[in-house]
Amino acid sequence: MRQSQLFTKTRREAPKDEVAENAKLLIRAGFISKELAGVYTFLPLGLIVLEKIKNIIREEMNAVGGLEVQMTTLQNPELYEKTNRWDDEVVDNWFKTELKSGGKLGLGLTHEEAITAMLVGHVSSYKDLPMSVYQIQKKFRNEIRAKSGIMRGREFTMKDLYSFHANEEDLNDYYDKVKGAYERVFERVGLGELTYFTFASGGIFSKYSHEFQTLSEAGEDTIYVNEEKKFAINKEVLDEEILAEFGIGMDDLVEKKAIETGNIFKLGTRYTEPLGLKFIDENGETKPAIGASYGLGVDRLMGTIAEVMSDDRGLVWPRNIAPFTVHLVALGTEGGEAYTEAEDLYRVFSELGIEVLFDDRNLGAGEKFADADLLGMPYRVIVSDKTLASGGFELKERQSGEVRMVNLEELIEIVK
Ligand code: ATP
Ligand code: MG
Repeated sequence: MRQSQLFTKTRREAPKDEVAENAKLLIRAGFISKELAGVYTFLPLGLIVLEKIKNIIREEMNAVGGLEVQMTTLQNPELYEKTNRWDDEVVDNWFKTELKSGGKLGLGLTHEEAITAMLVGHVSSYKDLPMSVYQIQKKFRNEIRAKSGIMRGREFTMKDLYSFHANEEDLNDYYDKVKGAYERVFERVGLGELTYFTFASGGIFSKYSHEFQTLSEAGEDTIYVNEEKKFAINKEVLDEEILAEFGIGMDDLVEKKAIETGNIFKLGTRYTEPLGLKFIDENGETKPAIGASYGLGVDRLMGTIAEVMSDDRGLVWPRNIAPFTVHLVALGTEGGEAYTEAEDLYRVFSELGIEVLFDDRNLGAGEKFADADLLGMPYRVIVSDKTLASGGFELKERQSGEVRMVNLEELIEIVK
């Protein structure tokens, strides 16, 4: 992509009403734009990151046998009445709307009921199970506080997977598999080290639900980390009982702030029973399927990465999800030798399938460097009269700040 064609502009100052670091940076860099509190538009660079994260999640969900669907955003209240979740007294953050022809609709808050009801026509025998279905879709929640940028949207994108099983053993095995898939997602987006499998409240079929908590001072949750066993306990369930259960004491735990990036639950028959998702087992007996649900916040993940990997100069994208691998910066006079060389390099990179943002704008070096730092591509390559005179290009690694001179072969070797 040529930066001269990118319509988004960077800005030096963050908007006054934005308090979250992720939103400040992403807005300044032109990745997102704020429509309302908790409601953001994804601009070209932001959308590339979001799509890359979605694809990593998609690959890992497919790898554990998940089949992708797209459920509806408009929801039928009858289903949620059957499971006793429609009432505002029970769930208080639902956006609800009225039909002109009479009656109410909900705006997608969660999809356990919709998925379960949809599958009724597709499950009849134990031979139809297990079944694993997911979607990556917008969710709407009437959050009271929406001050965490894209980490807490009133409109946001979630990956939600639902699995259904004939017996508890199968559920438990699959649940562990999905846990593994989540770990690979966090690894691949660069958050592996900072993310802890965490015992939390909200358990339905099992005592606890399990959260994936990513360490950050910007987190709204408090967790207690056991570094040795690499797991954590959410403050909300920390008591004598759970310590005894894990055979640990408070001395084995360190208090940390963290962001809940994922949450998985064993649901048992909580939704399948009232909605009639039943099957006939090997002995001819009719039983409700046993389910689990697995949520992962896609834009919350992106916001978390912006939050924990940035520095005082701007964003720092891990390579797997960076909008472009290389930020190619031409310096000097437009049409001069350095620009011609940079054009050539842009072509070579493109032919090799290396993703490049080419700063071909007619601007001064200072402005271009500041933008490259703010936008945060993993590598910045400078082509100027000076670098050409010394036989090559200047390569800067965004994360480490390391700068060196390289020739064409070395450059390609490194960024390929
Ligand atoms: P929280 O406690 O932060 O409000 P939750 O427990 O209500 O979240 P879940 O229903 O567990 O959220 O949703 C699954 C995942 O979706 C969360 O782990 C999180 O990553 C993401 N998520 C939830 N609410 C939001 C939101 N308002 N904005 C962005 N992502 C969200
Ligand atoms: Mg949760």
